[in-house]
Amino acid sequence: MYGHDAFGAAWRATGGMSTEGAGQARRAISQAEELEARCNRLAILCEAMWTLLRDQLQLTDEQLLDRINEIDLTDGRLDGRVERGSAIVCHSCNRRVARKFAKCMYCGEPLAHDPFA
Ligand SMILES: [Zn+2]
Repeated sequence: MYGHDAFGAAWRATGGMSTEGAGQARRAISQAEELEARCNRLAILCEAMWTLLRDQLQLTDEQLLDRINEIDLTDGRLDGRVERGSAIVCHSCNRRVARKFAKCMYCGEPLAHDPFA
């Protein structure tokens, strides 16, 4: 007698979420679940690659952490993010350095800035 649709119609009639709003909410939840699944797959892939490299090349976790920090700092901030467009490659040591620096922070080489960039 009072099926699911009837309840939903009554809820909407009293000012509840519209059908369109409910659809947007379902799509947002679905997209969030898909992103979470992709993050989990990437985490597994990263761990597999790291453990293979570490074991095959006798690397250490400290070396990995140093490289993570080095990459993080390429935009001039240690914040867990990298703004790719803000870095340039040093012609001397081939490391990525924040565009805002006049000299490479690793080797001291003056950086060649593209005047049109
Ligand atoms: Zn350099």
